[in-house]
Amino acid sequence: MDLSLTDEERAFQQEAREWIEANNPGPAPHGDLERFKFEREWQAKMHEGGWAGVSWPKEYGGQGTTPSQELIFLEETERAGAPYVGCNFVGTLHAGPTVAAVGNAEQRERHLRPILRGDHVWCQGFSEPEAGSDLASLRTRAVRDGDHYVVTGQKIWTSHAQVADFCELLVRTDPDAPKHRGISWLIMPMDSPGIEVRPLKTLTGVSEFSEMFLDEVRIPVANLVGDENDGWRVAMVTFGFERGTAFVSELLRSQVLVEDLVRLAASRDGGAAWADDGIRRDLTIVAAELDALWAYTKRNVSRAARHGNAGAGGSIFKLAYHETRERLGALAMRILERDALALDEAGGSGFDHVEERLYALSLSIAAGTAQIQKNIVAERVLGLPKERQWTSS
Ligand SMILES: Cc1cc2nc3c(=O)[nH]c(=O)nc-3n(C[C@H](O)[C@H](O)[C@H](O)COP(=O)(O)OP(=O)(O)OC[C@H]3O[C@@H](n4cnc5c(N)ncnc54)[C@H](O)[C@@H]3O)c2cc1C
Repeated sequence: MDLSLTDEERAFQQEAREWIEANNPGPAPHGDLERFKFEREWQAKMHEGGWAGVSWPKEYGGQGTTPSQELIFLEETERAGAPYVGCNFVGTLHAGPTVAAVGNAEQRERHLRPILRGDHVWCQGFSEPEAGSDLASLRTRAVRDGDHYVVTGQKIWTSHAQVADFCELLVRTDPDAPKHRGISWLIMPMDSPGIEVRPLKTLTGVSEFSEMFLDEVRIPVANLVGDENDGWRVAMVTFGFERGTAFVSELLRSQVLVEDLVRLAASRDGGAAWADDGIRRDLTIVAAELDALWAYTKRNVSRAARHGNAGAGGSIFKLAYHETRERLGALAMRILERDALALDEAGGSGFDHVEERLYALSLSIAAGTAQIQKNIVAERVLGLPKERQWTSS
């Protein structure tokens, strides 16, 4: 593929740059509620300006651009320090794209525009206490009762459940079928009676995700995406988006973190860290790895445009990205030295680096653990034999 910009892309880049410069509200505030409100407003502003979901089809409120142009827009957003999609992550980056790809006309009509406008925040109800890596063993039951499913069970690690309007929910509709074949993908309105959300606090002090208890929640059959018992296939479409391109802004943000670390190394304690050959070398290695991952992202996006998803490329990206982020976090700790021991002590951008270091721990788990990605790469890319059935003891 050709990585240089065409004239048309350059013009698009200029237009995006000008819009972002004129509309950038700056970084999101700390604190869950303030941040969620801010992120919804930013999403609405992007939609108003025609910059939400730029590569989504025009009929759903996007600009219908190429995926490469979407990357250009994200690159410009990061370059300007404009906010991330935040709590709109699930809706804009994987639930919305799944509804667009697999949902029926009525579902696309009802849900896609409100996602892009920031009117509807979505969460993801896939994982359960006994079903994370082995997601297909999920037990949340959906029993058909006329025009509704009656859903009972428990979900966990449901990001943004406390603020979400809808949930992409995996349920078991046929308990007698082989485990991958008895699952369905439902759209659950979060204001349905019978849902209890209990926020969980993370290491960085925020409550990004929750436990979610479902007690006879009635969900219309019309909210089934794909066919009944075909939910595993639909979930793979969701994962294709989640592991493939949903980490693009993350990656760009990491490049900004490296630039900031270089500044910190050169300015703290008279540039003591910058004088250390080892630190300079490691900063260069991390910067080069992130550049390589950016090129790999372009490859994945280009493949997804041709084949509908990035295939195992998403797993390769996720695996390599989390390892690089681990190295970047460790490097930040070496540069900040004792100040890295407490969030409050780090001060200025040091605070961000400590917070990002803690957050990076989750990258080896979220959207499928590193070990699971290695299994996928081993089986689908290297053609190694399938793993033995893994059971926890
Ligand atoms: C920040 C964050 C946000 C998340 N957001 C959501 C969300 O919004 N919605 C949602 O549904 N879920 C979410 N998750 C959950 C996430 O998808 C699961 O945590 C993940 O799939 C792992 O499942 P588990 O936690 O049950 O771990 P387990 O599956 O119990 O795994 C425990 C350990 O065993 C290893 N292991 C398991 N199976 C194998 C195997 N076959 N081979 C080798 N090793 C194996 C794992 O790699 C891991 O190290 C989130 C997680 C995080 C960290």
